[in-house]
Amino acid sequence: MSDIVEEIRRAYEGVGIRLDHPASYGTYYRLLCAACGRMIGNVGDRLLPGQAQEIVDAQRELYASGLLGCACGHQQERLKGARS
Ligand SMILES: [Zn+2]
Repeated sequence: MSDIVEEIRRAYEGVGIRLDHPASYGTYYRLLCAACGRMIGNVGDRLLPGQAQEIVDAQRELYASGLLGCACGHQQERLKGARS
């Protein structure tokens, strides 16, 4: 894994999302719910250092309020837990 992919993986790990293996065409990774494995999006690996964490931080409130993330509610629960 490249440094940037490792960085993306860590950033999403913090909100309860894991990265799937790269898609066959390379530069996109599927985002999977860490609890149930459902696909909840894609992320490209053409990011600058630090950008992945910025993106996740910017979406944090949306995950925490349940507007983004998996229907099973794992991201929301995880962020609530982290806050209290
Ligand atoms: Zn889920």
